[in-house]
Amino acid sequence: RAYNFNAGPAALPLEVLERAQKEFVDYQGNGMSIMEMSHRGAVYEAVHNEAQQRLLSLLGNPEGYKVLFLQGGASTQFAMLPLNLLGEGQVASYVATGSWADKAISEAKLIGEAHVAASSEAQDFMQIPALEDIQIPDNAAYLHVTSNETIGGIQYKEFPDTGNVPLIVDMSSDILSRPLDMSQFGMIYAGAQKNLGPSGVTVVVAREELLANSPKSIPTIMRYSTYLKNNSLYNTPPSFAIYMVNEVLKWIEEQGGLEGVARNNERKAALIYDAIDQSGGFYKGAAEVSSRSNMNITFRLSSEELDKAFAKASEQAGFVGLKGHRSVGGLRASIYNAVPYESCEALVEFMKDFQAKNS
Ligand code: PLP
Repeated sequence: RAYNFNAGPAALPLEVLERAQKEFVDYQGNGMSIMEMSHRGAVYEAVHNEAQQRLLSLLGNPEGYKVLFLQGGASTQFAMLPLNLLGEGQVASYVATGSWADKAISEAKLIGEAHVAASSEAQDFMQIPALEDIQIPDNAAYLHVTSNETIGGIQYKEFPDTGNVPLIVDMSSDILSRPLDMSQFGMIYAGAQKNLGPSGVTVVVAREELLANSPKSIPTIMRYSTYLKNNSLYNTPPSFAIYMVNEVLKWIEEQGGLEGVARNNERKAALIYDAIDQSGGFYKGAAEVSSRSNMNITFRLSSEELDKAFAKASEQAGFVGLKGHRSVGGLRASIYNAVPYESCEALVEFMKDFQAKNS
């Protein structure tokens, strides 16, 4: 298997792929693949409900929260969120931390009034703003934050206390990477393709009252209430992707749940950040140290040429996906839940070797 450091779609656990392969043609003796079955049948529905229950269970079975499965990626949530929750006379409040938060803000502006509660633009989006600097207006419908900026490589270590204003979090690139106290969130959402499974399904976990009262003026398929009332089976769901999510959730349970994956993620991130910090300045971490992401490690060398040479040599050595996002350049190692510790060790060995040959 390749050393896969792709930012997304990203590595899946080998055990999950192998299990899915075994069941691919004949799902549990039914004579067909799960993806060939009716989404109204008992066999598929059991998988669908199991995935929802497993997810809630990993999140500590928070009372009053529901799981929805949608399509259109996290990008569709950028629009659905204000369409559903931004009422008359209210503003949608956002913390601007980089590319993904900006996209969410742009969509909200198309729908109503959007407000920036705090921004780290002055720091080139290389750090999470101080929580005490986040100013939420009285008429905010919600505060939206991006828990992990996939491109910049910055991550919230804790979340702001928003009082009665629902805190809504785009967790696309760090969901289920660490224990979470769900009671602080009104809603979290994520495209599946980093920590949850293949692309094609988007997961929303939210307090039921935020999902129940969508305006009737927006299209039926865009209303959270449609998904809530119909257990995400109003129309054909991405059934194979949801089956895969259920398998990934089983794998997370086998890792010791969120505590288990968090321990692994911390070990992996520490290994690579230590290699950067102990390189005598050959490698430089891009993000401010206290905001460093445990999922996307962004770093640079002393010149763009050297960055390019590193990216090329790493590809030749069997590493995939280390080139930074085209909007910021540099290098990025995405080490989501499924990236094995051994891949990170191999990367550190490669980094040392590259340094020895190029300094
Ligand atoms: N939000 C974050 C933090 C992301 O990393 C991404 C994708 O990389 C998105 C949103 C967009 O997700 P999607 O491609 O599922 O629309």
